[in-house]
Amino acid sequence: MALVSYEDAFARVEARLARTEEVEVAIADSVGLVTTRDLHAVEHVPPFDNTAVDGFAVRSVDVQSVPVQLAVTATVAAGSSPSIELAEATCARIMTGAVIPAGADAVVMVEDSSPVGDSGGGGAGSEAVRIHKAATAGQHIRPAGDDLQAGDTAIEAGTRLAPGHVGLLATLGLTKAPVRRRPRVGVISTGDELVGPGGPLAPGQIRDSNRVMLLALCEQAGVTGIDLGLVADDEQLIERALLAGASDCDAIVTSGGVSMGDYDYVKAVLGRIGDMEWMQVAIKPAKPFAFGTIGATPVFGLPGNPVSSLVSFELFARPGLRVMVGDSKPHRTRLTAVAGSDIRRRSDSKVHFVRVNLSRGAGGLVATPTGSQGSHQLAASAGADGLAVVPDGDGVPVGGALDVIPLG
Ligand code: AMP
Ligand code: MG
Repeated sequence: MALVSYEDAFARVEARLARTEEVEVAIADSVGLVTTRDLHAVEHVPPFDNTAVDGFAVRSVDVQSVPVQLAVTATVAAGSSPSIELAEATCARIMTGAVIPAGADAVVMVEDSSPVGDSGGGGAGSEAVRIHKAATAGQHIRPAGDDLQAGDTAIEAGTRLAPGHVGLLATLGLTKAPVRRRPRVGVISTGDELVGPGGPLAPGQIRDSNRVMLLALCEQAGVTGIDLGLVADDEQLIERALLAGASDCDAIVTSGGVSMGDYDYVKAVLGRIGDMEWMQVAIKPAKPFAFGTIGATPVFGLPGNPVSSLVSFELFARPGLRVMVGDSKPHRTRLTAVAGSDIRRRSDSKVHFVRVNLSRGAGGLVATPTGSQGSHQLAASAGADGLAVVPDGDGVPVGGALDVIPLG
């Protein structure tokens, strides 16, 4: 089978992916989803002129030559609505976020003042303060609409919502966000040799690392991972699990059973019940990749070797799932780095994705391979900061430039 480039392979995937439908979700559940329309401010943010510091609201004309003593005639707390108006040579004690009272046009920080007289003396209205620093009109005042003006576009259509946006949505007074529905993505591990996490190992068995890893990758990709279980190398069981997953989920990710072995039944079953493309992608790791649909449900058939599974998810499933939620930039933004050590390779017509850690050097980012790069060696790849893209050829010498796909 001819090798296809990563770009061509992903283009084939993308062409077959449908977007999930447009819905409104609670803002608390919106992180990772993508807005379907522009969202506007309907009121000024902040809604009123308010103080950025704790201190004294003053008339700046009274605080030109300092020190100067002012009578403190009121206290304005955040959340209150002051009805006072400052008279000449008076001020109001004021707390961060509180409304600027009428007549005041500046705020003096507590740090630039000192109390006058003995603190025990005097009742309400007899308190005074000495200001040590001249005030300019507007100082420490956050004007109404300083963040957003009524009518401004606060969040554009197509924005991938981050936790900061959730706060902004709340600021806009919204309880729901218009987005595409978060896909439910079923994850299946296959293999007679696999044991679920925690179980004892009989001779010949290994632990199923991929299912929990892929579920975690789903969460990180902004989709809901659904555990469809660990399935033995048995055609009927695999078929049953895949059909159940296809009817319940928006997409399925399988691990294992898609290469050339006698018991690679995922391949056999998908070939029968799905409309699949079997690709040999010109990349390492994760050369074999299957993509297709069961009914209308897309299926990503990932290789079983844990590192291949991880890389294949990153390169195909993650951007594919991002396409489904309507992300116009489904791929991670590549970084530019220099190699922290020689990254040697032989020419084999493939692009190598080398797991690297990133650090900051004098000339910018430095990408250093994490260690053993075997596709079964998850230990060295597990916490990698990125995948360095090493084009076909003899590799990249220390200090040579590299593109890096950041992970996590
Ligand atoms: P396969 O793609 O099924 O031929 O599996 C390739 C290699 O990956 C074999 O060494 C499997 O034992 C291993 N493998 C497959 N699935 C998993 C899994 N879920 N967790 C850990 N290793 C796996
Ligand atoms: Mg297998």
